[in-house]
Amino acid sequence: MTHNIPDLKTRLQAVQQRITSAVENSDRTLSSVILLAVSKTYPAADIRACAAQGQRSFGENQLQEALEKIEALADLELEWHFIGPIQSNKTRAIANHFQWAHSVDRLKIAQRLSSQRPAGMPPLNICLQINISGEASKSGVSIDEVPSLVAAMNQLPGIRLRGLMAIPAPGKDMAQQRQSFRPLREMLENLNRAGYPLDTLSMGMSNDLEAAIAEGSTMVRIGSAIFGPRN
Ligand SMILES: *Cc1c(COP(=O)(O)O)cnc(C)c1O
Repeated sequence: MTHNIPDLKTRLQAVQQRITSAVENSDRTLSSVILLAVSKTYPAADIRACAAQGQRSFGENQLQEALEKIEALADLELEWHFIGPIQSNKTRAIANHFQWAHSVDRLKIAQRLSSQRPAGMPPLNICLQINISGEASKSGVSIDEVPSLVAAMNQLPGIRLRGLMAIPAPGKDMAQQRQSFRPLREMLENLNRAGYPLDTLSMGMSNDLEAAIAEGSTMVRIGSAIFGPRN
């Protein structure tokens, strides 16, 4: 089902306004937070309508569904982010068709993405997915494993390790949500001090983007607040 386009425009503007308020409340700049529109389950027509409002970056979590939309929307030159679980048999298509993969949680997957990235394309941007306690998804590495994985992934020529990603379990209030995001920010700061030029914290969804931005998120992944409820 294609959703009502005027509603989509209104919802996108409301999300942009939430991001603007959140950066102002945290003394951050608007340009420090990228909005990734999570278009999984929604039709290509909705993505086209969203792109017509100036939105460039879209996130998908099912490979087959994503590939169909990427092909249908090739004329728009959008930026595609893979945000779902990555099994070995998906790495080649991801390396060929996406600009980002947020959900990398094994060295083997990073190695495959690196070696399968076509020579003519810039390195694939990668986030290492972290499983902080109470994680809603079961994917992700524990925080203690991060330094050694970052050291190894940072060597791979076909990928560019950009930062960390997480999907915490829903928090009951702002304070609890911020507490879930904080270890990611602290880990990124540690990695920066250790000399790794990572610049991305992929955290915050429709229900907790304010807390994520307060804790330093540089990319919020927003689905239902833009496109409407998923079935
Ligand atoms: C679905 C999804 C989102 C968006 O969730 P909403 O609650 O609809 O904003 C963000 N990140 C990941 C990894 C997702 O799978």
